[in-house]
Amino acid sequence: MRRREILKGLVTASLAPVLPLSAWAVRAQGNTLARRIRPSDPAWPKPADWAKLKEAVGGNLIEPHALFTACETAPEGTACVDVEKSIRNPFYIGDQPAGTEVSGWLDAWTPAPSAYAVKARHAADVTAAVNFARQRRLRLVVKGGGHSYQGTSNAADSLLVWTRAMNQVTLHDAFMPQGCDGKTAPVPAVTAGAGAMWIDLYHAVTTVAGRYVQGGGCTSVGTAGLVQSGGFGSFSKGFGTAAAHLLEAEVVTADGKVRTVNACKDPELFWALKGGGGGSWGVVTRQTLRTFDLPTYFGSAWGTIKAHSDTAYRELIARFVDHYARHLFNPHWGEQVHLHPANTLEVSMVCQGLNAAAARAAWQPFFAWVRARPQDFEVIDDLNTYAGSARGWWDIRHNPSMVPDSRPGAPTWHGWWKGDSAQVGAFLYGYDSLWLPAALLHAGRQAELAQALFAASRHEQVQLHFNKGIAGSTVEAIAATRQTATNPGVLDAFALAIIANGQRPAYPGMPGAAVDQAAAREDAERIAAAAQALRKLAPDAGSYVSESNYFNPRWQAAYWGGNYRRLRAVKAKYDPDGLFFGHNGVGSEAWSADGFTRAR
Ligand SMILES: Cc1cc2nc3c(=O)[nH]c(=O)nc-3n(C[C@H](O)[C@H](O)[C@H](O)COP(=O)(O)OP(=O)(O)OC[C@H]3O[C@@H](n4cnc5c(N)ncnc54)[C@H](O)[C@@H]3O)c2cc1C
Repeated sequence: MRRREILKGLVTASLAPVLPLSAWAVRAQGNTLARRIRPSDPAWPKPADWAKLKEAVGGNLIEPHALFTACETAPEGTACVDVEKSIRNPFYIGDQPAGTEVSGWLDAWTPAPSAYAVKARHAADVTAAVNFARQRRLRLVVKGGGHSYQGTSNAADSLLVWTRAMNQVTLHDAFMPQGCDGKTAPVPAVTAGAGAMWIDLYHAVTTVAGRYVQGGGCTSVGTAGLVQSGGFGSFSKGFGTAAAHLLEAEVVTADGKVRTVNACKDPELFWALKGGGGGSWGVVTRQTLRTFDLPTYFGSAWGTIKAHSDTAYRELIARFVDHYARHLFNPHWGEQVHLHPANTLEVSMVCQGLNAAAARAAWQPFFAWVRARPQDFEVIDDLNTYAGSARGWWDIRHNPSMVPDSRPGAPTWHGWWKGDSAQVGAFLYGYDSLWLPAALLHAGRQAELAQALFAASRHEQVQLHFNKGIAGSTVEAIAATRQTATNPGVLDAFALAIIANGQRPAYPGMPGAAVDQAAAREDAERIAAAAQALRKLAPDAGSYVSESNYFNPRWQAAYWGGNYRRLRAVKAKYDPDGLFFGHNGVGSEAWSADGFTRAR
């Protein structure tokens, strides 16, 4: 990471002094934009220009402030106390124009409010903002749910397009993408404004209408950001990625055009929106996703087992790997198993399409094996399974595993998983991930896999997210996911291994928030060592664009594999001047790390 930043710094440093300002201006008027404007530049729009933009967007131009601004002047005041009270509520954070669901990442990024934000209500507001940013040479950012781990939806000195208010959800019995008549059959679908969160879709599609839409696991994640990521939900092993089921999107491109894109209109842009990374293609204003028959049952399996020795822990991991390969590597089972350095294995998995007896039977051999060896293993959290009505899964009125957003006036269906609470506002020390190939589950390679997992767990907790690898899924889900821009390595992977750590929120200006930098860096090194132990098994393994290492030196290949060249071509066609920039996004190589200076 440091090497890359130094290289970028050198490029900037060597160009800036030799080119006088007028030369920048000349180049900027030609085809190649060289430098974006900051508030300190004389060319920054005047108050009258901002006033015109404000008028064009119906008054919805605001000046966002950092979350804890109120605490700077009055730490004991009501405003500051209110923010402190609310900061563990992901919906509260998402409702703030400068809110980011992560409070920063050590040595990577720190939340920074934009200079101005357009709180968009419809595509026309977005067009006004995009045209203004392009014509005035401003840094533009787009934010939906604010869940970017890599901080790509916030930037200082920028103009923000904030889609939060565009959250309408409409169901269709038979949706036909524009221009596709005669080429494809209509299917049931749901259309959502770009600011909708997954809980808005789960409520409308599952709780109310009794159908299924493939979305994300975390309920407050934005729908547009997740689809552009590729995007996985708890049941992706059964249905594929969220992007795989995008039927159509409305998107405002860098030229200010509002385009309806699908497999028949602008098909290359449509493909890029399916996993090509958020914030690189335009502002998505609306998406339509296919819906499916709802399985009768959703269920889960859980428990924590502690091994009394390293030898027993190795055996436990090996036994679990074998059990997974035999009984759980199929479209039914997703979510996670965590391997802790303290020799504990924690199960937190979910299933779809299995009744209570089938869910129990899938785990019985493993649980029985553990229970029969009390001399080696202690069950420190009960081992058990459950299955119940799928329709009640996201119904916060009846699901005790969910925490309601209890703020006055909040939608009654808004809530988050208790298990996600610790992540809200987290400050990251480090994060890495890699897709583990399903070939490692073959009998001849299981020992190698188990050994690598044990070795990695010596450094840091290893999480296996089975729903984030599509191998073992249905033929249909694999075929649909293959039509996306995501690294095709996802199709051959049985799981995404994630190694990450951080701490409670540490937003700028937050009273009492502190990061022990030395300890955090040590932790980041442990994360790197654990990831390295797994990479020995799969040196070329890819990584999920939105849950990955900020400092990944080979991000193009890791996120998109052989698709990267095609994505670059789409970028060149629809955004040749790089108006849409994000850290390690397609085409970002051409820009300085902050997206303000063209590096080549
Ligand atoms: C706590 C947490 C839980 C998560 N859980 C999951 C999970 O279960 N499954 C999973 O697959 N991923 C998960 N992620 C990753 C998440 O899906 C991605 O970071 C996703 O991009 C977030 O979308 P957002 O709109 O919430 O975030 P934002 O930060 O608003 O946006 C993310 C990126 O998409 C861009 N973007 C957002 N909206 C638009 C738009 N309308 N048009 C164009 N670009 C846009 C932004 O510019 C930014 O680059 C999680 C992340 C966090 C922090």
